[in-house]
Amino acid sequence: MQYVERVLEELKAKNPNEPEFHQAATEILNGLKPVVEKHPEYEKAALLERFTEPERVILFRVPWVDDNGKVHVNKGYRVQFNSAIGPYKGGLRFHPSVNLSIIKFLGLEQILKNSLTGLPIGGGKGGSDFDPKGKTDNEIMKFCQSFMTELYRHIGQDTDVPAGDIGVGGREIGYLFGQYKRIRDEHVGVLTGRGLSYGGSLARTEATGYGLVYMTEEALKCRNDSFRGKTVVVSGSGNVAIYATEKAQQLGAKVVALYDSNGYVYDKDGIKLDVVKQIKEVERGRIKEYAARVKGAEYHEGCKGIWTIPCDIALPCATQNEIDKESAEILVKNGVKYVGEGANMPTTLEGIAVFQKAGVVFLPAKAANAGGVATSALEMAQSSGRLFWSFEEVDAKLKNIMVNIYHNMDNAAKEYGCEGDYVAGANIAGFIKVANAMMAHGIV
Ligand code: NDP
Repeated sequence: MQYVERVLEELKAKNPNEPEFHQAATEILNGLKPVVEKHPEYEKAALLERFTEPERVILFRVPWVDDNGKVHVNKGYRVQFNSAIGPYKGGLRFHPSVNLSIIKFLGLEQILKNSLTGLPIGGGKGGSDFDPKGKTDNEIMKFCQSFMTELYRHIGQDTDVPAGDIGVGGREIGYLFGQYKRIRDEHVGVLTGRGLSYGGSLARTEATGYGLVYMTEEALKCRNDSFRGKTVVVSGSGNVAIYATEKAQQLGAKVVALYDSNGYVYDKDGIKLDVVKQIKEVERGRIKEYAARVKGAEYHEGCKGIWTIPCDIALPCATQNEIDKESAEILVKNGVKYVGEGANMPTTLEGIAVFQKAGVVFLPAKAANAGGVATSALEMAQSSGRLFWSFEEVDAKLKNIMVNIYHNMDNAAKEYGCEGDYVAGANIAGFIKVANAMMAHGIV
């Protein structure tokens, strides 16, 4: 049996009931076949076996008390996956669906994503099955304080630097940081996505969505095209979706749809982002409200229908496995030309195959949404240098990083005989640096 097949088989046997982790590992390792063929020394050093086994998995209890005095217990996770090229770095996700499989898939992806940014950051991920929806500010604070009361002993500015993800935005990072500072009595860059008044970076809030659009813009540019006049469908209506919409609109595109986990809104005249920001960022309400406030906009229950809306560019920005084979086929039939993944693993393996077969330019998450973590690393650089860069400075660096990632994955795909296959290109370009570092460190 070939090396990659053997490692995947063992991984599935050793980690049963982890379907998302299997899915991510399958996508990544299949893309790495040409690399391990070229480097037989990797198999001798069990490099892929070590690469797919986290360095450390931390599981912990998170007890907290709600406003009515009721005691709740959630599960807390931190997977410190790989520190070969730098301290562990990756977000915290608070969502009821969170389990070890999801955190491990996200952590594995994160290793390569962080490597692709060209910055010295390793891969990690964490979170909890806590559901922030419907909780008061006080309950969110209580939960974050309890979560950090355990997590603090495992993280540090040179060891592991978490950030936000689904359900963890500026408010949660603030509460987490406050508790860390209280326990450790140190004001350091141990979390990114911090508020501007306590060490955060300008443009971090916008970075993932903007970065996604910068990379898509570069892909368009390389084909003598642009966002101007294009119809775009964006899924989600959280941090990534909002700022992807903002930048796409600034570049002249018409974004016609968004969703949350209940349903989607369609606005043929183009989404009014100020209304979305008011509903989502200020009121923490549901996207359904948009149709009640904007004349001519429609609301549809359920999410899947969003992919039946004809568009030139699709930017899935909500969660994993949003686009399956059937949705991918409908998108292709309706003429989609570019798909840029803002969320992590939003397309199933079968969905990716449909896009690639149809010649759709498919920009995979680990490259396309790397702008968030790249800007987090810029926040770390500012923290340790006690510096504060302007919005324009950070934004320019972000754009430069996204353009470089695009060309690095494009070149890697060409070099390894799979031109235009950015899934393979991103995996290869990200892996090589990590592999070199792991080989240099010996068997650890
Ligand atoms: P937010 O919590 O800000 O927003 C998430 C959005 O996705 C919400 O609109 C949410 O709807 C929707 N959503 C979540 N789960 C589901 C579901 N099962 N079905 C349908 N809709 C769902 O998160 P972010 O915008 O930060 O993250 C979105 C994606 O981008 C994630 O995959 C994340 O890993 C990825 N990402 C984020 C980065 C960042 O910097 N924030 C960096 C890199 C990747 P509802 O409110 O109803 O739950």
